[in-house]
Amino acid sequence: MPASNTTSAPKTIESKLARLGLRTDMDLVLHLPMRYEDETKIVPIREACMRGGQTWQVEGLVVKNEITYKPRRQLLVSIQDDTGELLLRFMNFYGSQVKQLSEGVRMRARGELKHGFFGAEMVHPTYKVVNEGAPLPTSLTPVYPAGEGLSQTILRRAIADAMRRIDWSDTVPEAVRARMRLMDFAPAVKLLHYPPKDVDEHALVERSHPAWERMKFDELLAQQLSLKRAQQARREKGAPHLRAVGALSEAFLQALPFRLTNAQQRVVKEIRADLREGYPMQRLLQGDVGSGKTVVSALAAAQAIDSGYQAALMAPTEILAEQHFRKIAAWMEPLGVKVAWLTGSLKKKEKTAAYELIESGEAQLVIGTHALIQDTVQFAKLGLVIVDEQHRFGVGQRLTLRNKGSDGLVPHQLMMSATPIPRTLAMTYYADLEVSVIDELPPGRSPIVTRAIDQNRRDEVIDRVHAAALEGRQVYWVCPLIEESEALQLQTATETYETLAAALPDLQVGLVHGRLKPAEKQMVMDAFAAGEVHVLVATTVIEVGVDVPNASLMVIEHAERFGLSQLHQLRGRVGRGSAASVCLLLYQSPLGQVAKQRLMTMRETTDGFEIARRDLEIRGPGEFLGARQSGQAMLRFADLETDQWLVERARDVAQHLLQHETPDNMAVVDAHLARWLGGREEFLKV
Ligand code: ADP
Ligand code: MG
Repeated sequence: MPASNTTSAPKTIESKLARLGLRTDMDLVLHLPMRYEDETKIVPIREACMRGGQTWQVEGLVVKNEITYKPRRQLLVSIQDDTGELLLRFMNFYGSQVKQLSEGVRMRARGELKHGFFGAEMVHPTYKVVNEGAPLPTSLTPVYPAGEGLSQTILRRAIADAMRRIDWSDTVPEAVRARMRLMDFAPAVKLLHYPPKDVDEHALVERSHPAWERMKFDELLAQQLSLKRAQQARREKGAPHLRAVGALSEAFLQALPFRLTNAQQRVVKEIRADLREGYPMQRLLQGDVGSGKTVVSALAAAQAIDSGYQAALMAPTEILAEQHFRKIAAWMEPLGVKVAWLTGSLKKKEKTAAYELIESGEAQLVIGTHALIQDTVQFAKLGLVIVDEQHRFGVGQRLTLRNKGSDGLVPHQLMMSATPIPRTLAMTYYADLEVSVIDELPPGRSPIVTRAIDQNRRDEVIDRVHAAALEGRQVYWVCPLIEESEALQLQTATETYETLAAALPDLQVGLVHGRLKPAEKQMVMDAFAAGEVHVLVATTVIEVGVDVPNASLMVIEHAERFGLSQLHQLRGRVGRGSAASVCLLLYQSPLGQVAKQRLMTMRETTDGFEIARRDLEIRGPGEFLGARQSGQAMLRFADLETDQWLVERARDVAQHLLQHETPDNMAVVDAHLARWLGGREEFLKV
């Protein structure tokens, strides 16, 4: 298919169209209406007046035309047909309109019919002066999504012009169309722009009409093809073969105080196989909070080190990175591995020392925050990059780490996430990733009991905290989230800390929040991990990764302000040991509908996948992952929730086309991508 021309519209219109993303003829043709106006019928005035309440098109002769000034300046025009008379009221009008609508002129007016003080009327109808017997349109009139300064008239003309110029050939193979009973491309597009008047309007509006189905399928197919292509392109890049599962891996497994769960063993196997390949792994490791992803990533690191390469682990917060460092260093250093630590808050001298360790290759494993991706960090021989809580990093940050390989080799990448991605989303957003799932928790965890409690019973809750601490259990007390003001959130945390410390004089109460210096933060966390602090008052800095198995009671204040996945993450800080754990969600009544739903979900389940599913239901995919990540961002027509079956078909067809690389198939892929993505394919590669 030849590349589409840009339109020949004047410059200003062109730039306005471009702002809507409409640059080529095909862009215009695929700019589909959001709704339609029915101008195919004329209703007798009497019937319109009797039925009222909605939009009608009527035609008649002007019998009165006057400007009145009460209550404000306005133009009143009355028209008449054989059945009755109707008042048209214009509040804003030009002198030319007054002349144009003079008595005896025939006009068609379309608008909502209201019953005003003086009888039936239309306020600001759209209208046209016509000759008697002027033909009516035979199809519905499209109404397009428009931008500033772009009228429907301009859009309609630009689109109609573009439709005369494009290549209409069908990019989906005949066999696929037949098998799926898909409409052909040309008739589907034409129907959507100009639906015949007897069309099933409901199906059009609901986007369930076969013509819409065809558009959605095409769009999803383009998405799948481009993601799969990006994956293929990745496979053409070289990566270090990390062949050895050797001494370190074995010693590490031996030294672990527990046995890997079956799920952990399965994903370890998947990762091991990938790392041996000569192209970069890009694997997403999903597992609910507490499912034991860290040890799996440490095993991957061991394989890199056994093979003579470095591994790097990047975490989104300093607390989490530090925790990984301590835990993994405690595992690895006794086995002779040199582990380096790098965050932004290190002193200059310490940083320089870390850089040297990394650059010389002496450090075999490097753990840190995004300080790892600074330009100043040069790895000697980076073989594997591990990104924890990957959804907290921007795409760019992940890519930078990937570029830190040497000898033109791209390091393998293991991304970890406790935000389970529902199937459809995984198939769209993650179509170019391999996914491993740990779907089993380590044994011996006792389930967490969750209760929602009215904030005004706070005193009872404090008593309960007291009793728990006396039994030797440790407690998290999570402060309310105040999104508008970090200062206010800090103040609240400090106040909460003070009141709790005063109310619990015989206990050690600690406070941790984002503004503490790293060393102070560490001191508090250490004291808590060592059992010296009984109650840890915390902001959401403890949301990810913090792992203190003896903590078995969590109180979350103003739980109604948190999102579902955030609550799930927070709650995941307890229930890590063998003690029965409790999570108390304090809420401020009255609760809104959404908040009520959230708290109910939290009470009903601790299964992260189920919570993710409900979260998706409540919020929709865009918000769920952030618009850019959701894969919905590039979908204009398909809806990941309702069009799941189309997603699956599109994936299958894409897979088939790319697996059978015949010249015909490749031509189909190229043509289809050119039509649907034009120059935008780059955007998808990240
Ligand atoms: P997450 O997947 O949330 O990152 P972690 O890796 O922090 O979970 O693991 C949670 C806790 O479970 C840690 O204390 C870890 O040492 C422990 N753990 C991991 N795997 C097992 C296992 N197979 N048996 C027992 N405990 C395990
Ligand atoms: Mg973790």
